[in-house]
Amino acid sequence: MLDYVDLEADLDEEERLIRDTARQFVDEQVRPDIGDHFEAGTFPTDLIPEMGEMGFYAPNLKGYGSPNVSETAYGLLMQELEACDSGLRSMASVQGALVMYPIHAFGSEAQKKEWLPRLGSGEAVGCFGLTEPEHGSNPSGMQTHAEKDADGYVLNGSKTWITNSPISDIAVVWAKDRSSEDTVRGFLVETDRDGVTTNKITEKLSLRASITGEIGLNDVRIPEENVLPGVEGMKGPLSCLTQARYGIAWGAIGAARDCFETAREYALDRDQFGGPIARFQIQQEKLAEMATQITLAQLLAYRLADLKERGDLRPQHVSMAKRNNVRMARDQARVAREMLGGNGITTDYSPMRHMANLETVYTYEGTHDIHTLVLGQDLTGIAAFE
Ligand SMILES: Cc1cc2nc3c(=O)[nH]c(=O)nc-3n(C[C@H](O)[C@H](O)[C@H](O)COP(=O)(O)OP(=O)(O)OC[C@H]3O[C@@H](n4cnc5c(N)ncnc54)[C@H](O)[C@@H]3O)c2cc1C
Repeated sequence: MLDYVDLEADLDEEERLIRDTARQFVDEQVRPDIGDHFEAGTFPTDLIPEMGEMGFYAPNLKGYGSPNVSETAYGLLMQELEACDSGLRSMASVQGALVMYPIHAFGSEAQKKEWLPRLGSGEAVGCFGLTEPEHGSNPSGMQTHAEKDADGYVLNGSKTWITNSPISDIAVVWAKDRSSEDTVRGFLVETDRDGVTTNKITEKLSLRASITGEIGLNDVRIPEENVLPGVEGMKGPLSCLTQARYGIAWGAIGAARDCFETAREYALDRDQFGGPIARFQIQQEKLAEMATQITLAQLLAYRLADLKERGDLRPQHVSMAKRNNVRMARDQARVAREMLGGNGITTDYSPMRHMANLETVYTYEGTHDIHTLVLGQDLTGIAAFE
């Protein structure tokens, strides 16, 4: 596997073990059928508890069943999952960084005890409801709201593009609290409550091996103890997104690496004009550029892990890495696809599947444009969002 500047040499034993375990799991259990899942628009849901058993959901958290592995180990895990499919990594990102993390960081003791072990083991599935039909890049404009009454809260509104909502037991829903000056708060909404609907979105041409849906909230009553007590305002959802984007910055490298390895192998196997296409300079230039771009993205991801470990990671660092590494993967997937000629457009090979998936990864968790504006603001002090 491509590791051109020997980053492996700096890994400790646990980090290698986690990476190798994830790689083996993917090779044996997921890769053989992932093309079929992509074509059928299904996720291998039977693997959800197994992924929990393997420790794939938020292993970087501490306590309540989570082993607190290093941020590098967590990144490597995301990389191996996305080397298979962005849908597989999305499952782990949402469950870990977007559902377990907010409960861990902002939940009450009772919420942590009730949900973290069940989510960590994959016995329960969670989703993260921030995006709305009219509010994507600007989630602070959200219309979903909560009204307080004697028994707790009544929620109304709708969320869309929510990964795993149709198969979730619990949704972390971000809504404006009408009784407290429209402050954004996090609500734990069990999906079997009256008034909750979770329709599946079926028309996707990207991230097909992942379940995506809506969340409809029609006079949904939830008790006061379902509110996340530890956070108020957009800081709540945004801090979760920083965690998930960190994983994406690593994961996208996995998709790019898989494209590179597939293209290299293909170029060595495929004969044209009396020998392997890998002997042509044009093909070698493509491989050289891919390897270089992947290596640069790896260096950025490893540096992010160090900053995160010592508490110096800023959301803007994560914006730079998400923006760069996903764009890199999206560009290189296309190059790999073209190197495979006609075979490159089939599900028999991974590059076009990765290429289609990366359109979602480029768009969700802050679009490429929005991360550009985040960096622009950080570099100039001037916000250019509006
Ligand atoms: C498969 C999939 C899964 C998802 N999973 C989840 C999930 O689990 N939970 C969740 O809450 N959301 C999820 N999302 C939603 C995702 O985060 C949003 O799609 C994303 O934030 C963009 O919002 P939008 O689609 O409404 O696009 P818009 O915000 O309408 O943007 C449209 C275009 O305008 C550009 N644009 C917007 N504002 C500006 C600006 N100020 N300056 C310049 N350009 C701008 C954007 O970059 C984009 O190119 C998912 C999306 C997909 C596709």
